[in-house]
Amino acid sequence: MTLEVKDLHVVVKKTGEEILKGVNLTIPTGQVHAIMGPNGNGKSTLVSTIMGYPAYEATQGTVTFNGESVLDKPVNERAKMGLFLGMQYPSEIPGVKNADFLRAAVNATMPAGKTMPVLQFMQRLNSAMELLQMPDDITDRYLNVGFSGGEKKRNEVLQMLMLQPKLAILDEIDSGLDIDAMRIVAKGINHLRSPQFSALLITHYERLLKYVVPDQIHIMVDGQIVDNGGPELADELEKNGYAKYEHEAKGDQ
Ligand code: ADP
Ligand code: MG
Ligand code: MG
Repeated sequence: MTLEVKDLHVVVKKTGEEILKGVNLTIPTGQVHAIMGPNGNGKSTLVSTIMGYPAYEATQGTVTFNGESVLDKPVNERAKMGLFLGMQYPSEIPGVKNADFLRAAVNATMPAGKTMPVLQFMQRLNSAMELLQMPDDITDRYLNVGFSGGEKKRNEVLQMLMLQPKLAILDEIDSGLDIDAMRIVAKGINHLRSPQFSALLITHYERLLKYVVPDQIHIMVDGQIVDNGGPELADELEKNGYAKYEHEAKGDQ
C-alpha cells in the first residue's frame, strides 16, 4: 500500500497563508522514510493534512493511499484505511481514561458493527506495554493528563502498537526523549516493520535514524521537498546543517 503525495499545496484556513508549495513524496509499502528539515517549514502541516486536521485546506494536488484518494475522506475513514499519526504535541483529554481511549480507537478501525474481543485487546495491550516498558497504571490515568513529555511520546507509540496501522506517521516522536526512552520508542517502531507496514518519521535528529534505519530521507524546506537520499543524508546534515538548502529555497545560492 503505497502513499503517494503529488504536487500538494496547502493553506492555513484561518489566514489563507500557503504553507505547502507543491510537495511530491512516495512511500512504497514496506519502507520507512524520514522527513528532516528546519523548524516551521511545513512538516507537521503535511502530516496533519494527510490525517485530515481541519485547520488546513489542500488547494491543489493529490494524496492517495493504495490508489485511493485520501483528502476527501473524513478522519475516521482515514484511520480505517490504515493511516495513523503520532502527534508532535499530543492533546490532554481530562475525563477520558487512556485504556478507554485505546479501546475506542481500536474499535473505530474495525469493520462497521465489529469490536475487538476484550481478551484479545488486553493481550495486545499487555504485550505493547511490556515492549515499551510502561508502568501498569498509565492506562488508568486520563489521556496524557500530567504525563511527562517522554510519557506522552511513548503513549503515541502505544497507540500505534494497538492500532497496527499500515502506514504510521510519527511527528517528532523522539523530541524530548532521553537516549533510553528513544531506544524503547525505536524498538516499538521496529517491532511493526514488515513488508506490509510503512512509516514516515519526522525528526530533527540523526540519532533516531541510527536505531530505525530509513530506506530514504527527504529534506523539507519552505513547503517543498528539496532533496532525497539514503540514510547517509542524515550524517551529512549533522555535519553541515540546512544552510545549503535554505539558500536554494530563497534562490540566492
Ligand atoms: P514544522 O512542522 O516544519 O516545524 P509546521 O508545519 O508546524 O512546521 O508550520 C509551518 C508554518 O505554518 C509555520 O510558519 C507555522 O506558523 C504555520 N502554521 C502551521 N499551522 C498553523 C495554524 N494552524 N495556524 C497558523 N499558522 C500555522
Ligand atoms: Mg516545528
Ligand atoms: Mg512540526
